[in-house]
Amino acid sequence: KAKETAGTALYFYNKALADASLNEVKLRQDLHHALDSKEMHLIFQPQLFLTNGRLCGFEALLRWEHPKHGYISPGRFIPAAENSSMIHPIGRWVFKETCRILKERQDQGETMYSVSVNVSFRQFHDPGFESYVIHTLAHYDIEPGLITLELTESATIDNLHDLVPTLTRWKEAGIKLALDDFGSGYSSMNYIGTLPFDLIKIDRSFIQDLPASYSKGAIVRAVLGLAHDLNMTVVAEGVETKEQWDWLRTHCCDAAQGFLIGKGSSSINTCIQDAFSS
Ligand code: C2E
Ligand code: MG
Ligand code: MG
Ligand code: MG
Repeated sequence: KAKETAGTALYFYNKALADASLNEVKLRQDLHHALDSKEMHLIFQPQLFLTNGRLCGFEALLRWEHPKHGYISPGRFIPAAENSSMIHPIGRWVFKETCRILKERQDQGETMYSVSVNVSFRQFHDPGFESYVIHTLAHYDIEPGLITLELTESATIDNLHDLVPTLTRWKEAGIKLALDDFGSGYSSMNYIGTLPFDLIKIDRSFIQDLPASYSKGAIVRAVLGLAHDLNMTVVAEGVETKEQWDWLRTHCCDAAQGFLIGKGSSSINTCIQDAFSS
């Protein structure tokens, strides 16, 4: 009897392990053909200037509709892609697709806006990525000043200084650089001044407790003061309420992005309509 119970337990134990590993392995395998099978697309989330409420640009966000499992969030598949070097083709595709969509707008004579593209630190291990960015812009005839590359601060912050040559060359080409999710990681005060960022994005975790939290407010005020002293633009992420908008506007934050303004859409024009109907 005891043996039987142990056997059953072992069976479930093995099955749970197998499922867990299968999921991770399967996820990585499925990532391999996700692009070729056209399962991925971009959505664009609008950003508004806080001073005048005008549109300042969009952030491109990657979406994956898995044929069997449906929507899988980038929070889940980006780390899997980073661990399997699939981040390289995916990262290149995101950049190229952004340029393709901008080019289409340009050819149709529509108003052009700047677009932010997320770049994972792992993409710096893709030796051709730096020049891929420059060549893709030239290929699609896109003004480099329309593109902002967003880098998320991470635990590997020590290595950030190794990226300075690449970041500098991108800047010299006219591309803008943003530090994403500011405050969420191993910040930061001592290196934001030494790295060539044009703007910083304050992480949603600071914004979500405004205006109630005095301490979060104090941090955001300090970040705004520092960033502005260093001539950087500040974008608040995850703005969901009118109260947050008003607080940020009062405290001279430059721009805001979040569900209050728009969740994002695959069509830039739909996105613009949503942004102004909110
Ligand atoms: P992120 O770059 O900080 O992007 C902002 C995330 O916050 C997005 O989640 C967006 O949908 C969400 N968000 C925006 N406004 C609000 C709000 O008001 N409330 C709440 N609760 N959430 C809001 P998403 O699209 O799930 O992306 C998560 C993260 O995945 C991104 O964070 C980024 O780090 C990464 N990611 C997304 N697309 C790409 C990509 O193309 N390449 C790379 N390397 N990473 C990407
Ligand atoms: Mg981002
Ligand atoms: Mg962010
Ligand atoms: Mg984030």
